[in-house]
Amino acid sequence: LRKISYPEQLTELVDQLRRLPGIGPRSAERMALWLISGKPELARDIGSSILTARENLGHCPRCGFFITGESCRVCEETSRDLGLVCVVEHPTDVVAIERSGAFSGTYHCLGGRIAPLDHIGPEELRIEPLLKRVEEQEVREVVLALSSDVEGEATANYLREILIARQVTVTRPAQGLPAGGGLDNADEVTLSRAMAGRTPFS
Ligand SMILES: [Zn+2]
Repeated sequence: LRKISYPEQLTELVDQLRRLPGIGPRSAERMALWLISGKPELARDIGSSILTARENLGHCPRCGFFITGESCRVCEETSRDLGLVCVVEHPTDVVAIERSGAFSGTYHCLGGRIAPLDHIGPEELRIEPLLKRVEEQEVREVVLALSSDVEGEATANYLREILIARQVTVTRPAQGLPAGGGLDNADEVTLSRAMAGRTPFS
């Protein structure tokens, strides 16, 4: 007797779903079975949303925030203070700070932080475009709103050195941001206070 297991297409679907972040074998199997058991529209809608988002969304070449097509909603806004730039790790951090309503400058998303164990050095991050902006935009203050864990601190220290050498005032949000979890874990009031009470980083 041959042992019967899942059909190949189902195993393939489980394998693909397992590639998603935070999805283990059991969850992937549950998701796959749910997708093939529901109405056909369900799988089609989810599949087409994934493709549409992937094909139409990108990152702004200037600030690194999400863009659709050519336009970046942050860079388009002319009323923002161009001399004030808040550096964050990910575009989702921009959304978190915007929600707090406490910042009227522009943003710069690094795309991560310096993490030697994961082979992420300064060259892997969007640091060159930041320095270009500092020159072109006559930036007077850069707020480093990075995670408060070891890697976030290392990234902040690295940036402080090269920014201070360019005569830019470097500040950071007031203490009270969560360690390592990203800014989207902080509540609006905490973020608002942290951004309003930013302190010199020297
Ligand atoms: Zn932009």
